Amino acid sequence: MSQQSSYRGRFAPSPTGPLHFGSLIAAMGSYLQAKQQQGVWLLRIDDIDPPREQKGAATGILKTLEGFGFEWDEDVLYQSNRLNRYLDAVNDLMRQKQAYLCSCSRKSILKDSGQSKQQRELVYPGYCRNGPISNRHDYSIRLRCENKLISFHDKIQGKQSINLEKDVGDFIIQRRDQYFSYQLATGIDDAEQNITEVVRGADLLKCTPCQRHVQKMLCLANPEYCHLPIVLGHNKQKLSKQNHAAAILEKNATSLLFKALKFLGQMPPIELMYGKKEDLWKWAKSNWHIDLVPKQPKLKIDWYNE
Ligand code: GLU
Repeated sequence: MSQQSSYRGRFAPSPTGPLHFGSLIAAMGSYLQAKQQQGVWLLRIDDIDPPREQKGAATGILKTLEGFGFEWDEDVLYQSNRLNRYLDAVNDLMRQKQAYLCSCSRKSILKDSGQSKQQRELVYPGYCRNGPISNRHDYSIRLRCENKLISFHDKIQGKQSINLEKDVGDFIIQRRDQYFSYQLATGIDDAEQNITEVVRGADLLKCTPCQRHVQKMLCLANPEYCHLPIVLGHNKQKLSKQNHAAAILEKNATSLLFKALKFLGQMPPIELMYGKKEDLWKWAKSNWHIDLVPKQPKLKIDWYNE
């Protein structure tokens, strides 16, 4: 048996629908990066947003991954079993005055800050920093951010710099409906699962500084980061479960895995596309080169459906 290294990677899908080609890219990139370093690869189900979840999706995701030949280590972690931990963290941050109650809604922020409606993610101008500016029965909780440039290195996307206060604003860690935010849960779990490197799609690159900030405020370790090129659909939008991207099917596993490898800049011999998925994985595990992964997709849009 080969010796295991201290590398720990993970794939963390949300059970909002079946896996699509974009999810396969994140699963494969994180898997190969871990396997190539004799590391551990964990599977985590990010099920903390019930209104967006689809019944049966988590089971379906596990089945699909298995059918495609992924083998995960340790037990699957369900974030829905970690709610007490997230609540403790929010309480800690509130006690330290790093977090505060906020009465603002998207609508009121839009109205008061003059930001454009088209902007999907608004910069929060900190209206409630010194106490909620209006009374309501349901508050969200925001984490205070610093007004300074912070940088980190992404293995594929290169150096990233951001001023959290100016570019994002104090962000939500617990929503008005009481659900915990993705930034909070992911920041905590990546650190507490001792993940050494997070490999995922570049659509989440903008979330990384927030998650690193959560880790810093809770005195947790920061993993390394590696953001893969995003898969775009024919409408030039990123493939996502919300956009109803086509589900990947086990019957097409080998050819989809082959296409995913090509998308990730690897150069598998063409015969592998028509062979067994076991042979393809064998080749991939011994020939994976992170340096070949492009920053942005090099192949034409929608080619993987051909
Ligand atoms: N759960 C997130 C998603 O499915 C990804 C989480 C992550 O990799 O950080 O989009």
